[in-house]
Amino acid sequence: MQLRSAFIGLGSNLEDPAAQLDRALAALAARGDLRLDAVSSYYRTAPWGETAQPAFVNAAARLETALSPEALLDVLIAIESAAGRRRELRWGPRTLDLDLLAFDGERRDTPRLTLPHPHLHERAFVLVPLAEIAPALEIPGRGRIDALLARVNPAGVERLPRYPESMESRK
Ligand code: ATP
Ligand code: CA
Ligand code: CA
Repeated sequence: MQLRSAFIGLGSNLEDPAAQLDRALAALAARGDLRLDAVSSYYRTAPWGETAQPAFVNAAARLETALSPEALLDVLIAIESAAGRRRELRWGPRTLDLDLLAFDGERRDTPRLTLPHPHLHERAFVLVPLAEIAPALEIPGRGRIDALLARVNPAGVERLPRYPESMESRK
C-alpha cells in the first residue's frame, strides 16, 4: 500500500476557533488510515470574500495516507460535520473548514473535488502557514509555495503564540 502526502488547510471563525482547530487535528491524529506528520503555527487572519465577519484562525498540516483524494475529502467533511459545520453563506462564518490543498501532485477538476485547491495560490491565509511546513512544495501548474507567497500581501495574517501569553511569560 503506497503512502502519499497531502496538505490540508484548516480554518474557523466561530465558537473558539483555536479550540476547533485543536479538535480537528486531534480527530485526524486519532485515525488509523492516515498519519499527521506536520502542523503549522496557528494564525489570526482577516476574513476573505465576505469581510463583515469575525477574524479567522488558520493553519496548515501535512499528512501521509493510502486513501484516495476523494476518500480523504470524505474524512475532512465528516470532521467538519462533527464540529457542527452548516453550509450556508459561501465564504461566510463557519465553525470548521477543512480544505484539501494539494495531494501528491494530483490534479482533479470535478464538481466534488478540485486539486490543487483553486484559490490556494492567491490566499495569504493559506500560503503563510503552508510555507512554514512546506516552502519547497511544488503546486502543479502554479509553482513553489515560497514563490507563490512572495506574490501575495501577507498583511492581516498574524502568527499566534503557541501558548497563552500568561504561560509564555512564566517559562
Ligand atoms: P473555498 O473552496 O473557496 O475555500 P469553502 O471552503 O467555503 O470555499 P465549502 O462550502 O467548504 O467551500 O465547500 C464546498 C465544496 O467544495 C465541498 O462540498 C467540496 O466538495 C468542494 N471542493 C472542491 N474541491 C475541494 C478541495 N480541494 N478541498 C475541499 N473541498 C473541495
Ligand atoms: Ca475554504
Ligand atoms: Ca471548504
